[in-house]
Amino acid sequence: MPLIKSALAVVLLCALASLPMFGQGQSSAKPKPRVVVIGVNGMELDIIRPLLLQGKMPSLASVIKKGAYGKLRTVSAPNCPRVYSTMFTSTQPEEHGVTGFIVGGITANTNMLKEEPIWSVLSKNGVTVGMANVPATFPVMRVNGYMISGMLTRGKNCEDGVLCAPKLSEVEGGEAVYPPALKTELLKNVGDFYIDCERMPAAEDLKGHETEVIDAWLTKVQLIRDQQTHLFDYMLEHHPTDFTWLGQSCEDRTGHWLYPIAPYNAGYNPKINGVRTEAFPDQYIAFDKVLGAILKHVDDNTYVFIVSDHGIKPLREFEETDPHAHMDHEKTTPVIAKHDFADGDDVPGSFFAMGPEIKHDLRLMGFEASVYDLAPTLLHIYGISQPAQMRGRVLSEVFEGSEKTVTQK
Ligand SMILES: [Zn+2]
Repeated sequence: MPLIKSALAVVLLCALASLPMFGQGQSSAKPKPRVVVIGVNGMELDIIRPLLLQGKMPSLASVIKKGAYGKLRTVSAPNCPRVYSTMFTSTQPEEHGVTGFIVGGITANTNMLKEEPIWSVLSKNGVTVGMANVPATFPVMRVNGYMISGMLTRGKNCEDGVLCAPKLSEVEGGEAVYPPALKTELLKNVGDFYIDCERMPAAEDLKGHETEVIDAWLTKVQLIRDQQTHLFDYMLEHHPTDFTWLGQSCEDRTGHWLYPIAPYNAGYNPKINGVRTEAFPDQYIAFDKVLGAILKHVDDNTYVFIVSDHGIKPLREFEETDPHAHMDHEKTTPVIAKHDFADGDDVPGSFFAMGPEIKHDLRLMGFEASVYDLAPTLLHIYGISQPAQMRGRVLSEVFEGSEKTVTQK
């Protein structure tokens, strides 16, 4: 009898030991949905549409065919930290606190967030979260997974963190990687990558060396994109999470000073704007390759969302003399396109979604979707009800079975 008892105890102990320590992976729990969000700063549909028609963005075209897409209404005077923090929290900039690049004289950072971001809500609900190079996530916050910061990370040669890029090893003033041990692993296996895109050149650096400076800058931008693609590939392969959010920011920055404008446009300088006129469209062709690398990790049961915070348009003729017209990003770069117009609808963002329950080949019309709707829609996929403070709504019309007829096929 005692022998049988101890044998039983051994069997029981073994059974217990085989169970995971924490909630994840228990046999009673259904596997969590898998979602990948790709944020692209300033994705401009005016530039993308011709590229789609020419077949130059095959990966994005495949997402459109399998899913739903449309314009994404953004906030007024949109810029990256202002809109991303709105997407994170589904609250207004004045409510979440990150109203711009600089808030009260300090570079926008996650300590300013006054409303709960989606990564926190998901983590609390047992969803594993992975985020890499997403703007306005510095210093990184504790999540049920990992977080690698993006735009607005401060460091060497980028002390204010505004529109420049420290390398991972050069980050200062806060942590860029959570959990801390991941940093060593990344330096070893991915390399010392740039956290964000390159700073735009100053007017005095361009003068007399325009083509040379433009080419060197574009080469650096592509190097950064390649490094970040490697990072995404590594994380998706070695640290898959239920929810993953990845960011890209070189597209917007290229548009600001290399938008393909005509000689009649405000700010046209033939020495800059007459060369490499394909530079900006080329950014989206390059992004399509990043997307292709990400889609290799995506199966039919994965939801994919591609979202941009705003578009970007050439300066208006009446704004050329406005001292603030060229100031939204870099004080000395000859900026010829921007997005911080008073009316965010002039530079809408865009929204692409595909996944197991998302309608195919559906076009959202008339600003059906807004940046406020992203977080509630993502939470809905995980069966998490929308917190009371969130101002958006679940984009139910993109899911199969919805009766809503406002959207059109
Ligand atoms: Zn911008």
